[in-house]
Amino acid sequence: MEILLPAFAAKSEKDDAASGFIERADGSGSRVAISWDVDPRPGPVAEKVARAATGLASAEALRTQVAGHEAILLRDMRGATLVWRCEKSGRLFRLASEGPRAPDVARLAKTVHCHADRLQTNGDVPAVAMAALGAPFRFANRGRGTISWMNEDEVMTLFAGQAVPAPRDADAARLAAPEWIAAAGLTDARADGAELAQGPQGHPAIAVHGGASLDGHAVRWTLLFWRCLQRQKTFAAVIFGQKTPDAAPLLAARCHG
Ligand SMILES: [Zn+2]
Ligand SMILES: [Zn+2]
Repeated sequence: MEILLPAFAAKSEKDDAASGFIERADGSGSRVAISWDVDPRPGPVAEKVARAATGLASAEALRTQVAGHEAILLRDMRGATLVWRCEKSGRLFRLASEGPRAPDVARLAKTVHCHADRLQTNGDVPAVAMAALGAPFRFANRGRGTISWMNEDEVMTLFAGQAVPAPRDADAARLAAPEWIAAAGLTDARADGAELAQGPQGHPAIAVHGGASLDGHAVRWTLLFWRCLQRQKTFAAVIFGQKTPDAAPLLAARCHG
């Protein structure tokens, strides 16, 4: 990750390739910040994802480009934020600029190299407590920001944690679910319902249910979203099969210590 930021006095950063941030502030109301997470969802970022990633629900939204990627520019009274998914490195980026002395976000974006280096890490993907599974799942595969396990016709996929907040309610979870279903390799995802549920390690969660296709065959899926307070990350995990799968195996995910 490379970017040219202004030489403001206050700095903070966590320069981890999978999940990090860099912030510069001048101490009198101007700041720029860029943050990123491994994000296995395919395709360009949708406006609703950009809004959820920034909390800018009522900002003006414009389509633009950053480093060759489709991006959403969100602008409000305080400043402007660019959100884009870099499919070359499998990460979601958020670049914000606010205050009178901060450079324009579009100018900052011209200095961004989001996929200059080969990313070695798959991100903060939860482990699975095998003893807690209750069924003989076996390792299936690992990808950028994902790990999958299978048991007969059931497949569960756990995704890398994201710094962005969890969906705030069942409706938001239903809207957010299809892109994660696509990240699990399914097509034509539709969400039928969502409700509050028990998540892994005692975290409150939202469960979403729906249908999708796998190589032309109809499948049913159950997806969990939860926020891990210990790690300050939002996690998603899905299980699918021919019949509506029980979410219980997803509770074997271990997001923190
Ligand atoms: Zn990129
Ligand atoms: Zn946790």
